Amino acid sequence: MNIIIMGAPGSGKGTQAVKICKAHGIPHISTGDLLRKNIADGTELGKQAKTYMDAGKLVPDELVIALLKARVGEDDCKAGFLLDGFPRNAAQAKVLDGIVDIDVALYLETDLKKLADRVASRRVCPKCGYSTSASQAPDGKCRECGENLIIRDDDKREVVENRLKVYAENTAPLVDYYKAEGVLKTVDGMNSIDEVNADIEAVLK
Ligand SMILES: [Zn+2]
Repeated sequence: MNIIIMGAPGSGKGTQAVKICKAHGIPHISTGDLLRKNIADGTELGKQAKTYMDAGKLVPDELVIALLKARVGEDDCKAGFLLDGFPRNAAQAKVLDGIVDIDVALYLETDLKKLADRVASRRVCPKCGYSTSASQAPDGKCRECGENLIIRDDDKREVVENRLKVYAENTAPLVDYYKAEGVLKTVDGMNSIDEVNADIEAVLK
């Protein structure tokens, strides 16, 4: 079973991806990890990717596709795989269709307004890494070590809202694409981790 998983940043997509792969014994292919591994291993494609990344540029789609093509051709992908982080838009989805058949496109649907609220209310301890939400720490102090909690730059409301806006613009056509292909499976991503997981397993059956 070849699966792709789609969901907004902060939707818990990564957590669900790990659970699915464990339950079905399939590899979790994250394009970010794949790039880092190829760079670390010094592969030809990794070297090419590195030149873009070192220049602060996005790695071109053709290069990511070439990496994916090689990866899904490996033995551990014979029984299927879960692709996470790619495709990010409909154009990439079309190219991906040219190299591998996708059986299920899982979409964790989220209320972007509520998701922005959830992410923007995150507080972390800069000293020990403890993380909580603003409502759970009304005094603004770390429960573990007493340090003042902070909002990570990535969690600042303006940054979060901008990230979600970009996500929504790319994802709507991507979801439509897989719907037209007849492989879209939508799950409510606003429930608890266990509930979302149970819904995913139900649609994968
Ligand atoms: Zn702390």
